Amino acid sequence: MLQLKDPSLLRQQGYINGAWCNADDGGTRAVTNPATGDKLGTVPDMGTDETRRAIEAAQAAWPAWRKKTARERAAVLRKWNDLMLANADDLALIMTAEQGKPLAESKGEIAYAASFIEWFGEEAKRTYGDTIPSPAPDNRIVVIKEPIGVCAAITPWNFPAAMITRKAGPALAAGCPMVLKPAEATPFSALALAVLAERAGVPAGVLNVVTGSSKVIGAEMTGNPIVRKLSFTGSTAVGKLLMEQCAATIKKISLELGGNAPFIVFDDADLDAAVEGAIASKFRNTGQTCVCANRIYVQDGVYNQFADKLVAAVAKLKVGNGLDSGVTQGPLIDEKAVQKVEQHVADALAKGGRVLLGGKRHALGHGFFEPTVIADVTADMKIAREETFGPMAPLFRFKTDDEVLAQANDTEFGLASYFYSRDIGRIWRVAEALESGIVGINTGLISNEVAPFGGVKQSGMGREGSHYGIDDYLVIKYLCMGGI
Ligand code: ADP
Repeated sequence: MLQLKDPSLLRQQGYINGAWCNADDGGTRAVTNPATGDKLGTVPDMGTDETRRAIEAAQAAWPAWRKKTARERAAVLRKWNDLMLANADDLALIMTAEQGKPLAESKGEIAYAASFIEWFGEEAKRTYGDTIPSPAPDNRIVVIKEPIGVCAAITPWNFPAAMITRKAGPALAAGCPMVLKPAEATPFSALALAVLAERAGVPAGVLNVVTGSSKVIGAEMTGNPIVRKLSFTGSTAVGKLLMEQCAATIKKISLELGGNAPFIVFDDADLDAAVEGAIASKFRNTGQTCVCANRIYVQDGVYNQFADKLVAAVAKLKVGNGLDSGVTQGPLIDEKAVQKVEQHVADALAKGGRVLLGGKRHALGHGFFEPTVIADVTADMKIAREETFGPMAPLFRFKTDDEVLAQANDTEFGLASYFYSRDIGRIWRVAEALESGIVGINTGLISNEVAPFGGVKQSGMGREGSHYGIDDYLVIKYLCMGGI
């Protein structure tokens, strides 16, 4: 068992209307540690009825929550943020146990996750409206912003805490209640956050967590007319399905979907900085983020030099159980994830790719894969089209700016892209030409709570974080005042 300072943070029940509860039929699902295969515990296998109850509880809690002043809501969120930070060690242990990422990354994620709660608590006070000069002399036009209503959130396993707070933070700040379904693999992080939300004074019904079948819970969340908004982070395939399901009741939706990030190294780049950025972007969370560099394009003149430096840096990464000190690469989330990396490597090799480092499952077994670098990667390989979501860095070679921009944009995705150059003209031209919601310029790390995170094309819609992020949970009301 996990040695937690506060064992009550590890909850094996759902949270509906301020009560900790089991599935109606008593069914449960196991949660396992991807580094060892050990069972960590169970969560309730909830379905339609429990989800409906959570939605109805949220609806009932809405009037009182929206009536609070922004300052009052902000005070509760500030407390939630403080409790997350105070319990960061336990939350990180729970996260590493169920998700696999190195403990230091888990701790970093807890601080990152809490930052959204803090940020949006503060933003709650700034949901300003507008006054507009009227075309008629006896009218006055005022615009106010109001909470949209009951929100549903479906979140993935790769950031078990931050993907929740990026949604719950702005929703609660705006005055909306939320029903959350965390990923099957990582429900304990979500439930621990709910424990702390309760302690912070989030009223019953304002935040609910249902665990269980994603299809069944998702169907109720998207079909129930009480739910006014759905926020989803996950695969593009599921995002499309949920969007379709939301069409019947015209819900507002935010989607953070897949990416296929290009990472371009121009010949005028600082190569050491580019290597550092590539490691940060590609190998964070063992390559399991939607903004991970997926295609690394290196200009002809610096290709070999960059490849050598990258291999030397990747060789220093330490694979192992995330709880062990010094480990930088944990296991992949499950067997399917390992198979995908294997397939991408095999496909690249069959079409002329060359392994410079790694290339196979790690001797540690389970979900472990060797940090891998492959050279001579080309556009006809699977890796050029699909997100690998694993520790494999593929190196493409290019000659001109136009050529690399055409290749970088030749994808249906458009979440993040990165490039390294020191030429100011090139920096502007390339930044403007890249079709993505986020561009990292001479950096591989782009996520924080103050900037807008989100994609274009089939990477989704809406923005999380920043002052834009709260808009997704607000509706605009126009007051036309006549007879003046
Ligand atoms: P990933 O590849 O990150 O696991 P998914 O899109 O499969 O991406 O999962 C992201 C979230 O979506 C998880 O919480 C998962 O349980 C949920 N999910 C998967 N399929 C469905 C579905 N049909 N309806 C609703 N939610 C789903």
